[in-house]
Amino acid sequence: MEQDASAPPLHPPPYGAAVSTISPYVPMSPQASSTGGRWIAPPGETDTPSFVWPDAPDTDVADNDKAREPTYKPTQAFKAIVGYEKTTIKESEPVQRPQPPQPSSSQQQFKGEAAGLAEEDAHKVLKAFVGKKLCYGKRPVEEMEIKDVAHSSAVHYSLETFIECRTTKRVHRPMRGETYPLHRKDLTPSGVWQVENPPDQIWAVDEKSIPVPNTSTIETCHACGGKGFNKCFRCKGRGKTTCKHCKASGKKGSNPCPYCHGNGRQRCFRCNGWACISCSVCEGYRKLEFYIQITSNFKVKQGDYLHNPGKKFPAKLLKDVDGEMLFEEENQMVSPLTTFPTQDVNTQSQQLLQKQLSVKTERVLLQRHRVKGIPIAEVSYTWQTKDGRYWVYSMDKRVYAPDYPHSCCCCRCVIL
Ligand SMILES: [Zn+2]
Ligand SMILES: [Zn+2]
Ligand SMILES: [Zn+2]
Repeated sequence: MEQDASAPPLHPPPYGAAVSTISPYVPMSPQASSTGGRWIAPPGETDTPSFVWPDAPDTDVADNDKAREPTYKPTQAFKAIVGYEKTTIKESEPVQRPQPPQPSSSQQQFKGEAAGLAEEDAHKVLKAFVGKKLCYGKRPVEEMEIKDVAHSSAVHYSLETFIECRTTKRVHRPMRGETYPLHRKDLTPSGVWQVENPPDQIWAVDEKSIPVPNTSTIETCHACGGKGFNKCFRCKGRGKTTCKHCKASGKKGSNPCPYCHGNGRQRCFRCNGWACISCSVCEGYRKLEFYIQITSNFKVKQGDYLHNPGKKFPAKLLKDVDGEMLFEEENQMVSPLTTFPTQDVNTQSQQLLQKQLSVKTERVLLQRHRVKGIPIAEVSYTWQTKDGRYWVYSMDKRVYAPDYPHSCCCCRCVIL
């Protein structure tokens, strides 16, 4: 019997030995479908498909448990929405940011540098350092004579900018009843950067999406054409597949195949024989709500500069060490340093700021910059007529002694 492809499936009369005892499915009336009612897959199993798919194959297909549902892309033309004319079902490029506010103009005051290290302390620190090293000889540190301690300070400047990028996209969800504010021609929706979408946590990398009010339109589901159901992809709309256990012969040796009871075909495992599955796009609701969605991406941009006054001291050791906080500021926008005593730091502050503000699609939400002074003491000593030096650096007094006498890293040495 031919059925109209747009009509909801009809429940067939019970038939055969495998009739389900579950109460029969009550078909949705055509009126119900026009009011947007939901189509739900009939419960239980059937031996007769509830809907004749005109494009179903003439013979059963082999059962394939790896068959996947096709994807459905919207094909309809959408109403143009003011301000979002270029927004499509694909994620847009990041949208240009609004004009940034003026940076703060607070007075920049810097604390003095960390106190220097006394000779006696410099010696103690080295003793403790050598004491922890198994293959460092103890004699040199016991016998050495400290000649001089020269103090300097490395400067670590860091700048962080908390930014937000926004993209737009036309998305959809099943029309379950409640909608976001619907699009009205007499109302202009808020612009991309006017919609409030604050981060849940400042200085945290995150992504957050929000619908734009007054952009919702109700459309017939493109996947099912408004039926609420689609052709079953596993049986290709036949309701049955050939039995893979007996290769459709119905026999296992001289006995009937136990899987298909000798029929050579089976009810489809995906649709239970109905040949239809609930539409995965509209979830059976037949209509979709399309709306413009804004997605905010929150990121932290980081940059830093290390001013190392000593040529012989490796700058990489200063990267993550603790220093004295000489300056700290957090504001929506900060101004570059201009009056720090080391001119290089001022220059770098300006350059890092320019770099972090250069991308025109990134809105600045917050900025912070810091200057830390890292004390470095260069200690000169003599031991057995030889001159040597080592460094004590950072607030927690770390030691760098690359040419300490009687040290080794391969343990072939004789420890004194
Ligand atoms: Zn099926
Ligand atoms: Zn079989
Ligand atoms: Zn649908």
